[in-house]
Amino acid sequence: MRVNENILISSLTTMRLGGLARYVLEIEKPKDIPDAFGFAKQYNFPTFILGYGANTIGRDEGFNGVIIINRMKGITEEKTETGFKLKIMGGEYWDNVVAHACEKHLTGIEALSKIPGLTGAAPVQNIGAYGQEVADTLESIEVFDTTDYTFKTLTKSDLNFSYRKSLLNTTAKNRYFVISVTLNLSVGEMKRPFYNSIEKYISENNLTDFSPAGIRQIVSKIRAEKLPDPTEKASSGSFFKNVYLTDSEAEKAEEKGYPVHRGKDGNKINAGWFIEQVGFKGQLLHGIRVSDKAALVLINESAKSYNDLKKARAEIVGKVYDKFGYWLEQEPVEIVNTMSATYIPPISNKYGTLE
Ligand SMILES: Cc1cc2nc3c(=O)[nH]c(=O)nc-3n(C[C@H](O)[C@H](O)[C@H](O)COP(=O)(O)OP(=O)(O)OC[C@H]3O[C@@H](n4cnc5c(N)ncnc54)[C@H](O)[C@@H]3O)c2cc1C
Repeated sequence: MRVNENILISSLTTMRLGGLARYVLEIEKPKDIPDAFGFAKQYNFPTFILGYGANTIGRDEGFNGVIIINRMKGITEEKTETGFKLKIMGGEYWDNVVAHACEKHLTGIEALSKIPGLTGAAPVQNIGAYGQEVADTLESIEVFDTTDYTFKTLTKSDLNFSYRKSLLNTTAKNRYFVISVTLNLSVGEMKRPFYNSIEKYISENNLTDFSPAGIRQIVSKIRAEKLPDPTEKASSGSFFKNVYLTDSEAEKAEEKGYPVHRGKDGNKINAGWFIEQVGFKGQLLHGIRVSDKAALVLINESAKSYNDLKKARAEIVGKVYDKFGYWLEQEPVEIVNTMSATYIPPISNKYGTLE
């Protein structure tokens, strides 16, 4: 296990905000996991499980606790009648997994190309894009249960998946450390009709290759036009969740002329539409740029602190509520100091050893 002290959360998250984390422990083998959580428990530190930080935001006050990151890598394959089961260690970068599956002509995750993050985080918010969700092909996950310090396997049905939700970010939030994810993928191609923007791109460019690698290429191009590359621009991708509506709410919204999309995942209005309607698309608010390509994406262009993001968020959410009566919900999670440590173990820094 790699142990780091006093690390800026801004350096661990793609929005690049947040003060110092007291400890950052990087897990390199399963045995490290109980040791890491045991260390936090021994000194009464809160813990936060982090991946690549693409859906996580740090606050200015930092985190007086222990951040634990899964760095275990590797993909093992098991042949099935229709394709392969891939068991992927949670520290693998997600897009490398998609690339690997596409090379083997496996369908099921090609539309999830270029989603930044580690594999261990993929089931947490049930990553989804362009008509696919990780829940579609996920068979099970191996976890460490932080309540009783045991290793367990949770199956897809245990995980209660829905739009951007699972057991892991709802009823059992922060309880399980995801060690590995097993996907069941088949050799083949996605079925038509594809997601609207994929169909549009295909017809505009006269494309005919719908193999997993072909769709991966299309999705990568669409995303590059619309979404910031987090290695170049600080961002958490979609900052607001789309607004999901019941059938009767959808009817009322349609009567008012709002653009309701009725898909297999339910009735929704794109959060970006509301933001555009209140005039914020492309605007710079407190150093936070509302993307001019997709208004639900916020980019940290020159924000000095989390507080700047907070002010920008309040303006956007408030104005949308005043005009439309919907509260936009934030997608990224935040690292919050939930309890204070009762004992601080000795540390050494440039001022000497502190007790
Ligand atoms: C430019 C951009 C585009 C994006 N596009 C999409 C998109 O199209 N679709 C989509 O769904 N998301 C998208 N996202 C969001 C993000 O990529 C996903 O949520 C991704 O899964 C985050 O992975 P991560 O490793 O960065 O997770 P982190 O941000 O580090 O963590 C996210 C959550 O998962 C938990 N977690 C992380 N690792 C583990 C683990 N091993 N065990 C248990 N819990 C864990 C954390 O505690 C936290 O609650 C985008 C983000 C960016 C910046």
